[in-house]
Formats: sequence, structure tokens, C-alpha cells
Amino acid sequence: MDLEPLPSPEHDPMLGLTEAHHELRERVDRFATEHLDPVIAECEAEERFPREVLQKFGETGLLGGTIPSEQGGPGLDNISLCAMVEELGRRSQVFAGMVGGMSTVFGAGLLRYGSDDQRSRYLQRFARGESMGAFALTEARSGSDAAGMETAARKVDGGWVIDGAKAWIDFSTVADWFLVFAQSDPSQGRHGICAFVVERGTEGFSTSEYRNKLGWRLGSVGGLEFDQCFLPDTALVGEAGKGYEIAMYSVGYGRLQVGARLTGGIRACLDESREYARSRRIFDKPIAELQLIQTKIVDMGIALDTGRYLTYRFARMLDEGHIARREGSMAKLYTAEALMQVAHDAVQIQGARGIGEDSVAGRMFRDAKVSEIVEGSNEVQRTLIAEYELGIRRPKRR
Ligand SMILES: Cc1cc2nc3c(=O)[nH]c(=O)nc-3n(C[C@H](O)[C@H](O)[C@H](O)COP(=O)(O)OP(=O)(O)OC[C@H]3O[C@@H](n4cnc5c(N)ncnc54)[C@H](O)[C@@H]3O)c2cc1C
Repeated sequence: MDLEPLPSPEHDPMLGLTEAHHELRERVDRFATEHLDPVIAECEAEERFPREVLQKFGETGLLGGTIPSEQGGPGLDNISLCAMVEELGRRSQVFAGMVGGMSTVFGAGLLRYGSDDQRSRYLQRFARGESMGAFALTEARSGSDAAGMETAARKVDGGWVIDGAKAWIDFSTVADWFLVFAQSDPSQGRHGICAFVVERGTEGFSTSEYRNKLGWRLGSVGGLEFDQCFLPDTALVGEAGKGYEIAMYSVGYGRLQVGARLTGGIRACLDESREYARSRRIFDKPIAELQLIQTKIVDMGIALDTGRYLTYRFARMLDEGHIARREGSMAKLYTAEALMQVAHDAVQIQGARGIGEDSVAGRMFRDAKVSEIVEGSNEVQRTLIAEYELGIRRPKRR
């Protein structure tokens, strides 16, 4: 008996997706089947980001996500962004994160706070897949406590001089430009932080890459070094001292694509587990008939629906003009923990096969662990949600 495909989001009336959302999802699925699926395993093994596939995706006109058409993007709504990133997240968390990050964590800061010149210089080429951006907040001694950064920005005639180093930055060796945060006045704390765009090739700026990581193998993650790096005044994004606000806005919005890609990962694990459970026979019957296997499948199905509801709810609230930080934290926290558990169970269902290089669940397992740490760790999200629930932090509705 053929296995019914897993429900995709448009089949769920709770999500209220339109025909246009449905068509977009199918388009992305066709693209990914043709261009991404054939290279993913090889890129994982080589720890290489498939930039050529990103460029090809740029030709679809969808890459810019929610970047408006006046800025060269397709101007998608946030629900569309979720549908697109969920499809890509079934294949690769990193590729989905790059595409989803375009209009959120990488591009949103420039879109909202950047000058006209910065927007036209970076976002338009970005949306066509001709250039790649990255987001550089973390340092060796400041991750969750981002405001404790030590990279320094010193005002000089006609610009700024940056000194210091960033750590664990996605696409460090492949991105063309970086949104970099630096402290201009430690006495002002977070209000002294500034945001800059730094282009690869700028004198005094260099990058490195970390190899053999547990997960995020496509991510070209590494360090950035600034040694007396001069940036012209035009590299400052927004006003001096607004950097922390820009970072938090970008990361807060970025949680949308994180929830969507993790939901896609849950779907991929469930899909692989269902097929395997039905085809693998032991003790003279398919393991799908064993109740201890069935309970894992049940939990995966519930995780898929819950992750989707939380993520698409966040998207809908953003589309309605809400800021929805509480909902964003809930979507990010839930989907990260859910994919960790789902991928764990999906590997277990496949026994030894789950450990092999062909296992999608194995890849999701590695990337789920990373997702529990990045873009606000589980503990940070729990702290934020607790503050909203207890009234210590007020939800900003619009
Ligand atoms: C693969 C990968 C890619 C990354 N990409 C990027 C990138 O592109 N750009 C970028 O800027 N950064 C990036 N990061 C960095 C990431 O954002 C940080 O690792 C993250 O913010 C956590 O910081 P930390 O690792 O310094 O841990 P720490 O902040 O030192 O935290 C240590 C532990 O304390 C916990 N903790 C923190 N706050 C609390 C609390 N209030 N209560 C209880 N426990 C708490 C943390 O959850 C963690 O378990 C990446 C990291 C990885 C692993």
C-alpha cells in the first residue's frame, strides 16, 4: 500500500493558507528537488555551502523573501516566507537558514535602519543571489550576553576604526558583507553599541573558518578579525548607539525563519521514519507494527503540528503588524526542542542506518543541537517567555 504524503501546511485549515501560498510552496519544492537534493550529502561531507544553488534560487525571484519590491525583493508576506523556508528546511537547515535569513536576521536591519544607499547597494544584489550577507554579533566572551561585546569602534575623521574579533559567525568565509556590531562607548553599555556594514576585502578585516564541527556543516562558520580596520561614515547603519536595538530587532524577526526551518526538519524526520518503519521487517513483521515505534511516530506528528501552529501564528501576527516577541520566542524554543527530540527518535527508529551518512535524521540531529544554542539559546528563550508570562516584560503589540 502506498504511503499518503505527509500533510503540507495548505491542507491545515487552522493555518488559513491561500492558493498563492500553496503555489509558492510547490514551486520551492520543485526547485529544491531539482537543485538542492542532489548536492546536499556532498556538501555536508565537504563542509561546503552550495553557493551555486543559492545563485540559482536567486533566478526564481523568491530569494529576497519579505524584502519589498522597491528594494529589489519579491515582497512576500511572512506566511509565504514560512512556507518557503519550511520546504527548504526539509532538506537543509543551513540552506533554509540562509534563504530565510535574507529578509530577517541578515537583511531586516538594513531595510529598517539603513540608508537608501545601503539598501540599494546591498539588498538588491542580495535578493538576486549575487551577494551574500552575514550577521556578526557573537564574540568569544559574549554570546547570550551580547551587550558585553569588546570589539571597539573609535570615531575618527571621516569614519570609524574597528578593533577586535567576532566568533562563530555563519558564512564567515563565503559572505560578501557583514553586519557587524561594535562598542563605541563602554560607559553607555548597550546604548554605546553601533552597527556597521563591512565588506570583504576591507583593509584590516580578515576571516577564518572552523572545521569538523558537530553540526551546521554547510554553514562556513568562523571568526572575523578587525585590526585597525577603517570604515567610512557611510558604513554606519542607523544612528551611532542604535546597534543593540538593530541586533535585537534582527534576531527577534529571525526567529520566524528559525521556527519555519525547524518545522521543515521535523517533517523530514517524520517522513523518513514513516517510510522506514513500514519497510523494515524484524521478527517477521514491519517495525511499524511495534507499539514502541508507533509512540515515537505519534509524538513526531504532534510535534509537527504544534511547531507549525506556533510558527505560522507568529508569521500571521507579524503580517498583522504586531511585534510578537513572546510568540517568536515560543515558536523558536518549541521547534528547536521538538526537532532535537524528533531527530533523536528518528535516528533510533532506523537503528544503525540512522547513524550512517545517508540518514536525513542524522543530519537533522546534528543541526537541531546547534539550533538549541543559536539565535537565543533555549535558556534565553525560557527566560524571555517567563518574563512575558509574569508581566516583568510587556509584550509590544505593534
Ligand atoms: C554553528 C553556530 C553558528 C552560529 N552563527 C552565528 C552567527 O551567524 N552570528 C552570531 O552573531 N552568532 C552566531 N553563533 C553564536 C551563537 O549565537 C551563540 O553561541 C549563542 O548566542 C550562545 O552564546 P555562547 O555560545 O557564548 O554561550 P553563553 O552565552 O556563554 O551561554 C552558556 C550557557 O549558559 C546558558 N544561559 C544563557 N543565559 C542564561 C540564563 N539567563 N539562564 C540560564 N542559562 C543561561 C546558555 O543557554 C548556555 O547554555 C553561532 C553559534 C554556532 C554554534
